[in-house]
Amino acid sequence: MPVDVGRVRAAVRFDVATREAEVSATMSFTSGDREGRPVFDLRQDVDEAFFDGRPLPPEALRYRSTGAGDEARVRAVDLVCDPGSRHELVLRYRLGLPQATGAVPVAWAPSGDGVTFDLWMSDLEPGRYLEMWFPANLCHDELALELDIEVNGSDRPHTVLANGAVRQSAPGRTFEVRYPPSYTSLSPMLVLAPSDEVVTAQGDATCAGRPLRVGVAALRGAGADVAGALADTQAWLGYFGNRYGPWAHGDRFTAVLWAPGRGMEYDGATTSSPEALEHEIFHSWFGRGVKPASAGDGWMDEAMATWATASRRAGAGRFGSEELGLDQAPVELRPPHPWSRHTPREAYGDGARLLAGVAHMAGGPDRLRNALAAWHRAYAGRHASTSDLCRHLSQWCGQDLGPWWRRYVDGLAEPA
Ligand SMILES: [Zn+2]
Repeated sequence: MPVDVGRVRAAVRFDVATREAEVSATMSFTSGDREGRPVFDLRQDVDEAFFDGRPLPPEALRYRSTGAGDEARVRAVDLVCDPGSRHELVLRYRLGLPQATGAVPVAWAPSGDGVTFDLWMSDLEPGRYLEMWFPANLCHDELALELDIEVNGSDRPHTVLANGAVRQSAPGRTFEVRYPPSYTSLSPMLVLAPSDEVVTAQGDATCAGRPLRVGVAALRGAGADVAGALADTQAWLGYFGNRYGPWAHGDRFTAVLWAPGRGMEYDGATTSSPEALEHEIFHSWFGRGVKPASAGDGWMDEAMATWATASRRAGAGRFGSEELGLDQAPVELRPPHPWSRHTPREAYGDGARLLAGVAHMAGGPDRLRNALAAWHRAYAGRHASTSDLCRHLSQWCGQDLGPWWRRYVDGLAEPA
């Protein structure tokens, strides 16, 4: 039974001497509108559990099949809850490699005096949002996340980079990170690293007429030009603000630069290689400004980002406009199962090809950029679905895009 998660509070203690990270997490939730076993997810082995203050054997939280494939499994509490009742689940565990494809473990410094940790989420595989590390709901649900982080067993100061408010009660050692309650499991960015391995640059940008504080940080190993990346970031924030509308993420933007291969968008933030930076910043408008209504709707923002930025996966190039008939091979961009939780790789290239076809039908790329700006105006700070986008773009094209969605989003060969 799906539930409404209100708050997730977790204390994480990294001990760099013993190379262990212990977590005590509390998930507060309200059960759904009928009797049932509450669904959540956590891709870690649980040592100890308490439900409403009573001990619960970890076996009572085992994974369940959703019918959308093993990777899209969830956990359910093996207790039947009354409709609308409020509960608290407390979990204690040690952070291991998250049980999800492509996940990366906590990185302990070989010298034994430091730790590097990145939430490092992904849309491409199920279970790669907050649930990798902490108990959470699926990405449709807004939840207040509070992380208390402590680094023990070393005198070396550490730094936390996050898109939430960070308070240090013991500088370089303990961090209280509070994320806005509008965040969902795909919103929070967090990078923890030894302070001497982080290079930072700060500046200002003007985004749709409002001032924005911009912070760019790089891990030394990334070999990135931080000052150059800051200048690019300021320019892109200004351009996207002018073209697609007001910033939806408070008064800050934060980027953490990694070596090539890493690129992920968060609300008003990114962890990215320098090459992917423009693509990831664009996502603060589309993907994390307008959020997907469910994980299966994630194809929309990859299609848009590929079409509108210099993405290396864009076959047709930026701002393509090309006639697209209903005679090409069908492509599935939105997985059909309601519990599916991944964005197919085709969302980039084939998604951008679909948008190039839409641009052609709308009267050119400039018209499609106007349509995207209107989409952002209508849905910024909210969630939107695949059918919402079909409706919106159909209006801009003056024709029903249903047949194109059926063939190039749902992957269905036969007309309805
Ligand atoms: Zn992307």
